[in-house]
Amino acid sequence: MLDWLVVGGGVHGTYLSSLLTTRCAVAADRVRVLDPDPEPLARWYRCAHNTGMEFLRSPDVHCLGDHPFALHEFARGDRGRSLARFTGPYRNQPSLELFRAHVDTIVRERGLRALRVRGWARRLTAVGRGLRIDTDAGALEARRVVLAIGSTRPAWPDWARRLRRAGARIDHIFARGFCRASLAPWSRAVVVGGGISAVQTALALAAQAPGRVTLLSRHELREEEFDAHPCWFGGCLGSFVREGDLGRRRSIIRRERNRGSVPPAISGELWRQVADGRLDVRFASVSDARPLPAGGVCLDLEEGYGALATDLVVLATGFDPARPGGAWLDRAIGELGLPRADCGYPVVDATLHWGHGIHVTGPLAELEVGPAARNIIGARLAVERMSAVA
Ligand SMILES: Cc1cc2nc3c(=O)[nH]c(=O)nc-3n(C[C@H](O)[C@H](O)[C@H](O)COP(=O)(O)OP(=O)(O)OC[C@H]3O[C@@H](n4cnc5c(N)ncnc54)[C@H](O)[C@@H]3O)c2cc1C
Repeated sequence: MLDWLVVGGGVHGTYLSSLLTTRCAVAADRVRVLDPDPEPLARWYRCAHNTGMEFLRSPDVHCLGDHPFALHEFARGDRGRSLARFTGPYRNQPSLELFRAHVDTIVRERGLRALRVRGWARRLTAVGRGLRIDTDAGALEARRVVLAIGSTRPAWPDWARRLRRAGARIDHIFARGFCRASLAPWSRAVVVGGGISAVQTALALAAQAPGRVTLLSRHELREEEFDAHPCWFGGCLGSFVREGDLGRRRSIIRRERNRGSVPPAISGELWRQVADGRLDVRFASVSDARPLPAGGVCLDLEEGYGALATDLVVLATGFDPARPGGAWLDRAIGELGLPRADCGYPVVDATLHWGHGIHVTGPLAELEVGPAARNIIGARLAVERMSAVA
């Protein structure tokens, strides 16, 4: 039986495996990371490349190194210097390339790839003095399991589901098989969404095909530098965890997460491209959508806004806000009697322990780690809490 099994080897799971095997001195053969991809962070990089993002939205102290200044130091050293590009009002948001080179170095130096087991968790049950995870590639047993599965389901509006069922060409930038770089030819694309990923995707497609892309958002652009106010990276968390009512904590998270927002530099770039005629922007909701007999799709917009004809609909509508994990986690919650708040998310203690040796990080830890739990800084905050029991 392993000591630790981390389910999900993205940003959070990889950082946790790094700290467990170094700072917490857990022997490497006692830790495994279960993930469908062989490479650490593969899913996150796919999402990032699909949007065409060049820089992170978060500052360099939100990195996967042992201490907050690890990425900053890496950028000044031999391996990082040539990639050291930063943006943002404080020139501290690293390029994706630099962030990735830093993560690759950590993964290589720590041998983190060797900890990975390929597969999907399908069932979680209690066995003897530990837990068992059934995967599509066999079973694993561990004393402690950490669920680091991120946000699992892309959000599909109802009209988009109907369109997909009707066999129309519609994709989601966060769908597992989607790759923007290898899209089949199209003549007119509509990118649906109003947040940073939608704007970046529209800009990326317009760079490939100027004048043939429309960004369709149901709201005006909301400018915000970060996903959440920086006080949620630390300073405000004391009052958050003192709030005993989990319903109120959920309201704080909803209020404080800048969902569907865009940093000013990126919206500025969008308006420049619009002014140059390279990109079109429409603000309206889709009321219905149907495949056209001659091919392509017609998106009917809300009353008074007309319709859009297109042969490529790309959704950039983010992730489903429901608790991640889906049916296999529902089953474990029922069988193990794991406590849930009214919003469906785990009720955990200060070490992010949910029950029976199961810990959580990322969105699943939101009611304890607060509005930035899903971000990179959320991984650092979560590991601080969990290291008390490692
Ligand atoms: C395009 C994009 C850009 C972003 N930019 C930033 C940024 O600049 N700064 C920032 O702080 N945040 C950013 N975020 C938020 C970001 O998602 C988090 O920072 C980070 O990726 C979350 O890490 P995670 O480990 O929770 O999720 P992920 O990195 O998605 O990892 C979750 C892993 O769990 C695996 N998994 C899921 N279910 C199972 C299962 N049943 N069995 C086994 N494995 C499973 C998945 O395959 C995946 O590998 C961005 C998000 C996106 C989509």
